[in-house]
Amino acid sequence: MGEMAEHLDDSYDYSHEIREDERNRREDDWRRMNIRFHENGRAETGATIECAHCARKIVKKTYQQRFCPPVVKGKKKSYRCKDRYHNIMNPRGKFAHLADL
Ligand SMILES: [Zn+2]
Repeated sequence: MGEMAEHLDDSYDYSHEIREDERNRREDDWRRMNIRFHENGRAETGATIECAHCARKIVKKTYQQRFCPPVVKGKKKSYRCKDRYHNIMNPRGKFAHLADL
């Protein structure tokens, strides 16, 4: 830490660059999610796919599966990856322009 810190110029505001960079990175992430979503839709049942949201490797068990299987808590099923993906790709959401590649 010591050496690096000495070379930082405190008078320069990096916040704009960081935001730009972070935004581009997130757009790339969302774009890859969308690609996985469509690839998973085309994959055969029984094939290994990557969850459209988190990219974890899973075996496609049903024809329409595109995400990690739900987490079951008692009688409730929690479709975490699926819900998050659809929140991101919501037509009124921030990244709606990426939803129709
Ligand atoms: Zn997942």
